[in-house]
Amino acid sequence: MSRPAAARINLAALRHNYRLARTRHGGRALAVIKANAYGHGAVACARALAGEADAFAVAIVEEALELREAGITQPILVLEGAFGPDDLIHASTHDLWMVVHQAEQIDMLAAHHAARPLTVWLKMDSGMRRAGLMPADYAAAHARLSAMPQVGQIVLMTHFARADEPDAAATAEQIAVFDRATAGLPGARSLCNSGGVLGWPAAYRDWARPGILLYGADPMPSDDHGLTPVMTLESAIMNVRNLAPGEALGYGGRFVAEVPTRVGLVAMGYADGYPRIAPTGTPVAVDGQLTRVIGRVSMDMMTVDLTDLPGAHIGSPVELWGHTVSVNTVAQAAGTIAYELLCNLKRVRREYIDTAPA
Ligand SMILES: *Cc1c(COP(=O)(O)O)cnc(C)c1O
Repeated sequence: MSRPAAARINLAALRHNYRLARTRHGGRALAVIKANAYGHGAVACARALAGEADAFAVAIVEEALELREAGITQPILVLEGAFGPDDLIHASTHDLWMVVHQAEQIDMLAAHHAARPLTVWLKMDSGMRRAGLMPADYAAAHARLSAMPQVGQIVLMTHFARADEPDAAATAEQIAVFDRATAGLPGARSLCNSGGVLGWPAAYRDWARPGILLYGADPMPSDDHGLTPVMTLESAIMNVRNLAPGEALGYGGRFVAEVPTRVGLVAMGYADGYPRIAPTGTPVAVDGQLTRVIGRVSMDMMTVDLTDLPGAHIGSPVELWGHTVSVNTVAQAAGTIAYELLCNLKRVRREYIDTAPA
């Protein structure tokens, strides 16, 4: 028998979440599968969505090439665009759509010779102040690209800084800035990431760009949006110990038993992607029952409290996150966000299943 640590990934849940996003927003939806599909495996996720996704998005050209090599034929948008002329050559060879977010990339395109015109997504900085053409420069950039024979369609896009905050004035302002600066320009529009799809109908346009919601990790978990978790990170109890009051557990003796404590050792650690920083008290499920992490998470193992779970034994299943323990609650306990936990997944094998969510 092999080590029981695994990430079980339900591809039917992924399709369910994609459909939900696409229906809610209307129009077309890019499935954002950058960073190895937020840790879920980009090729497997792309294949699972190939029958219905209008297009895919990744961050960098290398990620797009991996999908093309795996036989994915849908359009693929590269969200960071070209870093150099080689990226544009790949884009032409493999028919990639390229984001253009700064003047240097427009110059690069001007010097690029393409047999077929490239589809470009022209990004505006409408208020995030990270990347994108300034609103005042946008129409001129659009005109310059439109005049290039190597550029075909131009999609107008921007990205929200605070779409996961339901009433953020900053998002309303970004929408207004974008609409003003694109008034009269031809072409499809795209504004919404997951937070936009779930919370900002005023930003619905031609294309949605859902990422995190595809994986069932709701960026606004205070409302139930009907998403289904795609990944269950699971393992099993590999040893059981009893601590007497006063005895310290694990590295640094960080947890000291105050009462007789039954400890389960779990085959999972930070080398698998479970956050080392998760403190005592972080929720975890054993045999489907909620309990807590105790002591330091170590590289390959971690310890959980079985004091109130007398039936738990070596081999009992453990869910680190999934349906019983949402990845959002673990992220919150660890002082981070579900995005980071999911895309940090490593070492554990991924097991794909494809069954309709309950
Ligand atoms: C990553 C990314 C997305 C997806 O964001 P989520 O918050 O995961 O939905 C959408 N658009 C752009 C430009 C991105 O970089």
